[in-house]
Amino acid sequence: MPEILKKLINIISLLPWIWDKSATRLAFFLLNANKNYIENFAKTLLELKSNIWKCKDCGALLDAGKDKCVICLNTERKHDIICIVEEYLDMLSIEQTWYYNWTYHILGWAISPINWVFIWDLNFLSLFRRLDENAHTELIIATNPNIEWEATLQYIKEEIDKRWLKHKTMITRLSKWISSGYIEYADNISLINSLKDRKEA
Ligand SMILES: [Zn+2]
Repeated sequence: MPEILKKLINIISLLPWIWDKSATRLAFFLLNANKNYIENFAKTLLELKSNIWKCKDCGALLDAGKDKCVICLNTERKHDIICIVEEYLDMLSIEQTWYYNWTYHILGWAISPINWVFIWDLNFLSLFRRLDENAHTELIIATNPNIEWEATLQYIKEEIDKRWLKHKTMITRLSKWISSGYIEYADNISLINSLKDRKEA
């Protein structure tokens, strides 16, 4: 097999959800694809990182050159409620239910020293800035409970206590375990219900 093809198979096999044979099949698909498609594909990959910025408030992904996302800019939204999620995809999943009208904060993940994820790796600075600048009635932790999120929740509570905010900010979390383990894979009804019946943390 030509070296370049082996290299391509190797690169594809590093992607998640790819096993050996599908890496080979994808490599041959690309080899046989038309030139325009390949050029467009390669160009998009090269532009991916540089053409995406993050919302300076919530951390949602944006087109380069924009400061804030449409949700943070939307005055019709309930800006006193922040729904904290791990990833941008989690935010999109909740938005797809069309049920909630609050704002979000994408933390990145949860504090997990064992996985080398520390406080400074996560999007806490803008979260606490938002809490300092505006009154918030509620922070919703929209993740499944686990050791990492217990530690993260504790840290958020301690930081809120330290800040002497003018208004009490209630912290709530999902009422039910999302069975798939990931908000991104949850069905709309489970997601709506677990958010609707949220409990104080
Ligand atoms: Zn935003």
